[in-house]
Amino acid sequence: MDRDRRITREELKAALYEAYRRFKGNTSGKNADYIPYLANVDKDLFGISICLKDGEVLTVGDCNYRFGIESISKVATALLVLKEYGPETIIDMIGADATGMPFNSILAILLENEHPSTPLVNAGAISAVSMVCPVGNSRGKWETMVQNITELCGSEPQLINELYKSESVSNHNNRAIAWLLKGYDRIYDDPEMSLDLYTRQCSLGVTATQLSTMAATIAFGGYNPVTKRRVFPAALSEKITSMIASVGMYEYTGDWMFRTGIPAKSGVGGGIIGVLPGIFGIAAFAPPIDKAGNSVKAQLAIRYIMEELRLHIFNGERAVMVEHQPAPV
Ligand code: GLN
Repeated sequence: MDRDRRITREELKAALYEAYRRFKGNTSGKNADYIPYLANVDKDLFGISICLKDGEVLTVGDCNYRFGIESISKVATALLVLKEYGPETIIDMIGADATGMPFNSILAILLENEHPSTPLVNAGAISAVSMVCPVGNSRGKWETMVQNITELCGSEPQLINELYKSESVSNHNNRAIAWLLKGYDRIYDDPEMSLDLYTRQCSLGVTATQLSTMAATIAFGGYNPVTKRRVFPAALSEKITSMIASVGMYEYTGDWMFRTGIPAKSGVGGGIIGVLPGIFGIAAFAPPIDKAGNSVKAQLAIRYIMEELRLHIFNGERAVMVEHQPAPV
């Protein structure tokens, strides 16, 4: 039996616009308030963007608004160290296990001190930043990190200074994490420098359009469909996508995968990226988040599109994007 299912661009567009229409007025969730800047972002902003294989980017809503990338930056830096060190070294030095706990959990570090967790939670992300080359050189590391995000997104992110300041004066929990990791020999550069670079990468401003391009670059094996440039070796795509699938939505990741079937990574700034291998990269943005730190409207929108087009990655069908549905014979 033929298990290919053709999806036209028109069907995808219709689902995208309908997702926006349905959830635009939803008022559930609350802006993150443990970082003061985020509490004041307009809670009604909402945008959804999908980047396709040929580089076309479909958008609806506020897709040009720059918001804090926050934890979605962890994906970029994980890719960077995967590229610099190779997957086996990353498994040894950081790991790739889901913690099943909140993103800033200290308990997870205590429980897993012998076996590091994943670069997609705060602890592993601070470890990952500490590994970025050139080790010992804060400015050099920062340039490498920004360059990497630029290549993934297809254009430059911009530091939101106010967010960086706001986060730097309130990141006590992350400072505790950095020093605890130091005690377990899981920080590979200066802990304060690693914490600062981590905080700065979280404060980069990006748009939903840029993030959908980043998601698509992962979905298409490291090839950025917008710039038409290779950003990372194809073999790393399955590695980063596995990490995203197992922990990208923190303690709600299992429920998320069950319901929607798309590996996704959230940030407390309200962004979520979804990677549908070989099909598209999607990003949605809306500031109010749930208890795990995942944007409520972004989740609803991505879930709607996945269900509407029956795209769950484990459904046994192979979805294929086509220009137009051939006329029935
Ligand atoms: N900068 C935030 C923090 O470290 C990122 C958290 C997130 O987006 N889940 O707390």
